[in-house]
Amino acid sequence: MSQEPGAEDAGLTAASEFAGVPDEFQRLWTPHRMAYIQAGPEPLADDCPFCAAPGKRDEDGLIVHRGTHAYVLLNLFPYNSGHLLVCPYRHIASYDDATVHEVAEIGALTQTAMRVLRSVSRCDGFNIGMNQGAVAGAGVAAHLHQHIVPRWATDANFFPIIAKTKALPQLLGEVREAVAGAWPA
Ligand SMILES: [Zn+2]
Repeated sequence: MSQEPGAEDAGLTAASEFAGVPDEFQRLWTPHRMAYIQAGPEPLADDCPFCAAPGKRDEDGLIVHRGTHAYVLLNLFPYNSGHLLVCPYRHIASYDDATVHEVAEIGALTQTAMRVLRSVSRCDGFNIGMNQGAVAGAGVAAHLHQHIVPRWATDANFFPIIAKTKALPQLLGEVREAVAGAWPA
């Protein structure tokens, strides 16, 4: 296999110069995931970002709505603009540890979040769900949180693969203001 023009200048080595046994699979290398895999044990409740956020001003905690048993905030690490999280105030890990009141309010806040996101961002669809346990992909596994990710027909691109970068057209502060402003009283 020949090198791409300019590859030598850039200090790159052709893949054919490494040893290996090819098979039918392609690989999507995601070394940035090691930061999560190697992060070690869950933080204590004292360090929990979802316990700390309600103690901050809405603007500083990225909170868009405070309910009785649960609240809604922007994800600091959004998959898309308007990526919201619904959390109970209590530091519980598992959905089946939530009380009926918490379950009901998490559900109602999720519905309202969908309506608000549709009105402010005209999204075409949503991904909604909870990752239960670190092994299932939960970034903060110790504190229950429901993801609400707005989707647009045109939102997928290759940035996450080639540049470890998500393209986010709106800053978090602007999104928080828009969502909080559209949230029904
Ligand atoms: Zn917590």
